[in-house]
Amino acid sequence: MLTRKQYQFWFCTGSQDLYGDECLAHVAEHAKIIVQKLNESGKLPFEIVWKPTLITNELIRKTFNEANTDERCAGVITWMHTFSPAKSWILGLQEYRKPLLHLHTQFNEEIPYDTIDMDFMNENQSAHGDREYGHIVSRMGIERKVVVGHWADESVQDRIASWMRTAVGIVESSHVRVMRVADNMRNVAVTEGDKVEAQLKFGWEVDTYPVNEIAEAVDAVSESDTNALVDEYYDKYEILLEGRDAAEFRRHVAVQAQIELGFERFLEEKNYQAIVTHFGDLGALKQLPGLAIQRLMQKGYGFGAEGDWKVAAMVRIMKLMTQDMKDAKGTSMLEDYTYNFVKGKEGILQAHMLEICPSIADGPISIKCQPLSMGDREDPARLVFTSKEGRGIAVSMIDLGNRFRLIINDVKCKKTEKPMPKLPVATNFWTPEPDLYTGAEAWILAGGAHHTAFTYDLTAEQMGDWAAAMGIEAVYIDANTNIRDFKRDLKLGELFYR
Ligand code: MN
Repeated sequence: MLTRKQYQFWFCTGSQDLYGDECLAHVAEHAKIIVQKLNESGKLPFEIVWKPTLITNELIRKTFNEANTDERCAGVITWMHTFSPAKSWILGLQEYRKPLLHLHTQFNEEIPYDTIDMDFMNENQSAHGDREYGHIVSRMGIERKVVVGHWADESVQDRIASWMRTAVGIVESSHVRVMRVADNMRNVAVTEGDKVEAQLKFGWEVDTYPVNEIAEAVDAVSESDTNALVDEYYDKYEILLEGRDAAEFRRHVAVQAQIELGFERFLEEKNYQAIVTHFGDLGALKQLPGLAIQRLMQKGYGFGAEGDWKVAAMVRIMKLMTQDMKDAKGTSMLEDYTYNFVKGKEGILQAHMLEICPSIADGPISIKCQPLSMGDREDPARLVFTSKEGRGIAVSMIDLGNRFRLIINDVKCKKTEKPMPKLPVATNFWTPEPDLYTGAEAWILAGGAHHTAFTYDLTAEQMGDWAAAMGIEAVYIDANTNIRDFKRDLKLGELFYR
């Protein structure tokens, strides 16, 4: 299982020495209480660490630089309890390189009507100080999240929690390494892209290996290891022979088990967290990796089919952002396949040749063994299931030649009206927001791909914030989308991001 670091977030309170030591003691005490209560809320996926009150240029600069070099620190949360002259923040902010949250809060929830005096006002003036601080961050053009509200408010805590996951996606992006054991499918445009620019923008390392190197690693997996994994499959999944000979079926499944182990060992040894394959470039592999890739995705690896390294990297990042999430419903690569245009029942059947992550499955998962309609290999074993209902997002990262664009579509996942007993692949079925017609029109106008990175567990806001941190355009297709405004947004993007 791929894991990420146990990240922390630093809580930095701004003030100054104008109001005396007693006031500064209160500021520190209040910040400590906020940090303690936020940590105790059970809402946050990561710990917040209190830092001494920042009152001078030197300390602000030192603290931000320490945050840069502390590997556990995934971001800084700032809050101006009193007034903190913002020129003091310029050098620190200039040198700071990690995600930044401006928590615009206040220690007390209510104005203390009966007792309020000027001392209280001077001590509790974030409405004032946070504006001074916000001004300089905006003037410096620094991308940050602003969350407004009382810190004990659950909706404020939820927004901090959501931003923390975005921040982890931002800091982890530059640790994503994609292994290509195949080039992009011949003549396909949308899976292509500038890998140098992707490394500059996102930090992704995208490397190629000859497919037979990984095939050798598969060959090296022992029969006993393979059989043990096949036993695990047979325990865990339903076996749908569909008239095939049981022993022959098991041999086909064993090919996938050996691929899973061989691929995983090869990826681990060479430190890659995402992989792309291509059905037309399999070298000595006996089957297109199907079940094997499905299992690796569930273990946290990113995956893209037909050489689609952008999707592989996005799936990996979204898996990192959703890791350890309570009640997570799953994240996978998907592909727009077939429409249902029946009025009132419109939607897009999502599938792939084989490689859909079982984390999105609802109900039983079965193994089937069927011929592949493309390529020239053995019938590959694959996991077959239908997916959960509910809201999700589908994202597509495209390379427009001079820049990247992230397209984010809110979708509603449903059950298909009837089962599809002859379809030997895992599926999802969704209606894009605001409706199939507008959603698909907007997607096509934006240049969105047929492959997507899909999750139930993140929001368009989180992925849009991630894109903003990467310095790329994000376009949203959601309940508020209309084509006239959407086209104008695309034109504005052409101006802004060129
Ligand atoms: Mn495909």
